[in-house]
Amino acid sequence: MIPYKHEPFTDFSLDENRKELKKGFETIKEDFGSDYPLIINGERILTDKKLDSYNPAVKSEVIGRMSQAGEKEALQAMDAAKETYKEWRKSSFQFRSDVLFKAASIVRKRKFEFTALLVKEAGKPWKEADADTAEAIDFLEYYARQNLELKDGRKVESRPGEFNRFDYIPLGVGLVISPWNFAFAIMAGTTAAALVTGNTVLLKPSSKASVIAYKFIEVLEEAGLPQGVVNFIPGSSREIGDLLVEHKDTAFVSFTGSRDVGVSIYEKAAVVREGQVNLKRVIAEMGGKDTIVVDSSADLDLAADAIVKSAFAFSGQKCSACSRVIALSDVHDELVEKVVERTNKLTIGNPEEDNYMGPVIDESSVEKIQKYIEIGKEEGELKAGGKIDNETGHFVHPTVFAGLKHDDRLMQEEIFGPVVGFAKADNFTEAIEFANDTDYGLTGAVITKNRAHIEEARRDFMVGNLYFNRDCTGAIVGYHPFGGFKMSGTDSKAGGPDYLQLHMQGKTTSEML
Ligand code: NAD
Repeated sequence: MIPYKHEPFTDFSLDENRKELKKGFETIKEDFGSDYPLIINGERILTDKKLDSYNPAVKSEVIGRMSQAGEKEALQAMDAAKETYKEWRKSSFQFRSDVLFKAASIVRKRKFEFTALLVKEAGKPWKEADADTAEAIDFLEYYARQNLELKDGRKVESRPGEFNRFDYIPLGVGLVISPWNFAFAIMAGTTAAALVTGNTVLLKPSSKASVIAYKFIEVLEEAGLPQGVVNFIPGSSREIGDLLVEHKDTAFVSFTGSRDVGVSIYEKAAVVREGQVNLKRVIAEMGGKDTIVVDSSADLDLAADAIVKSAFAFSGQKCSACSRVIALSDVHDELVEKVVERTNKLTIGNPEEDNYMGPVIDESSVEKIQKYIEIGKEEGELKAGGKIDNETGHFVHPTVFAGLKHDDRLMQEEIFGPVVGFAKADNFTEAIEFANDTDYGLTGAVITKNRAHIEEARRDFMVGNLYFNRDCTGAIVGYHPFGGFKMSGTDSKAGGPDYLQLHMQGKTTSEML
C-alpha cells in the first residue's frame, strides 16, 4: 500500500481551481431548498417537522429543509442499529475498511462540490472549506488504514500447550453527535471511526449544517455500506438527545461540541438504567480557550501572522482558535501594533466571493459575541473591530482587545467568534502559568527562539496540542493527533494511532492445544 499522506490543499490562486469551485456552486444550487429525509435502515423518511438549514452569509437562502426525528423515529433507528449490529459485528476488518477507502475516493472526485456546500451551509471561506473537505477525506483514508492494523489484534505470549490471542471486537450501537463548525470532517470522522470498528451508528448531526451530513450518508451508501449500519437522525436535542444518551442499549457516545453539552452527556451516560448491561463509554471532545505565548526572543512578524490566522480564520469558530495572547511585557506593545495592522487589512463578506472572513453561524452566535465585545470594552481596551453587521448575514468584524488581565472573563470564557485578547506577563514561567490558568487545555502555541523556553513549555504548558513557532489551529489527520486536556475533553486524539481502540473492546482467548 502507498504510505499514507494527507490530502493536499487546493491552490485557489490557480484559475482552473477557481473555475472548478464555481462549477461546484452551480451543481449544489440545483438542490437548494429541497426537502431532506431521515435515513433509517436505508429507508428515506420525510417527517412533518422540518428545520431549515440556511446560508449564514445570506440569511434568506435556504440550503435545505431537513426532516427532524422525534422520539418515535429515534427509537426506530435504535431498533434498526441493534438489529444490523448482529451481522455487522461479524463483517471483516477488510470489508469495513474497503467501504471507507471507496468513500474517500468518491469524496476526492467530488471535492469541489463538497467544498462549495461548506461555503454555503457553514459560511466557510474557500480555504477553510477546502481544508474541511480534505480533513474528511483524511479521516476516511486514515481510519481505514488504522483499522487494518488492528485486524489481527495484538501479540500476546503463549505458554507450551496453549494458544493465546488478544483481539479487538466492537462495542455495539454508538451514538455520534457532531458540531457544525467542522460540519464535514468531524461528522464524517467520528462516524467513520465508529462504523469501521464494527459498531452500528446513530448519527445526530448539528441542525445548523445537516445537509452536508446527508450528502455524506449518500457517499457511504455508494461506497457499499450495508443498510442500517449508519442511521441518519437529525433532530432536536431536547427531544431525542437525552433519550438516546440515556438509552439502555447505547454502548457509547461519541460527542464533539461545547463544554456544557459535553459535561451533561458525560453525567447522563454514567447513570446505569434499568436493563442496561454495559457501562457506556463516552468520547467527549469539547471547547477551548487557546493561548499563544510570545516571548522576548520571538520573531514578532511570525507571531503576528500566527495570531491573526489562529484568531480570525473561519471567524474564530474553531475549538483550536487563538482567543488569548500572553506576551512578555517588553514585546507586548509592538506585537499588538503588528496584529492590529494586519487585522485591519482582512476582508470580510460573503465567503462565496473569496473573502478572508465570512459570517458567524447564526443569530445566537452574534448575540453571544456581542455580549463579550461589551465585556471586553469594560475589562480592556478595544484596539480593532468590535463592529457587527447582521443585516443580510451574520458578520462580526475581527476584534482585538489589549490591556486585559489573564484572568478577565474575556480571557477565560470560550467566545467562539473573531475576538482575541492580549495580556502581559513579566517572565516566561509566569506566561506559561497564565496560559494554563483556564479550565480548558486544548491547543496552544509558543513563539520563541529560545530552546530552553521550548523545553519548559513542552513540559509545563498543559494542552493536548502544543505548537511551536506557528499558529495553534490546523491539526492534520495522521500527523497531529487531536484532542484536549482538562475541560476540553477526554483527550481522545482524533486522527491518531490510538483513536479507533476507543470504539472497541479487547477480548482474550486461550485455547489448550
Ligand atoms: P453544541 O454543544 O451546541 O452542539 C454540538 C452537538 O450536540 C450538536 O449536534 C447539537 O445538536 C448536540 N446537542 C446539543 N445539546 C444536546 C443534548 N442535550 N443531547 C444531545 N446532543 C445535544 O456545539 P456546537 O455549537 O455545535 O459546536 C461548537 C462547540 O464545539 C465549541 O465549544 C467548540 O469548541 C466545540 N468543538 C470542539 C472540538 C474538539 O475537537 N474539541 C471540535 C469542534 C468543535
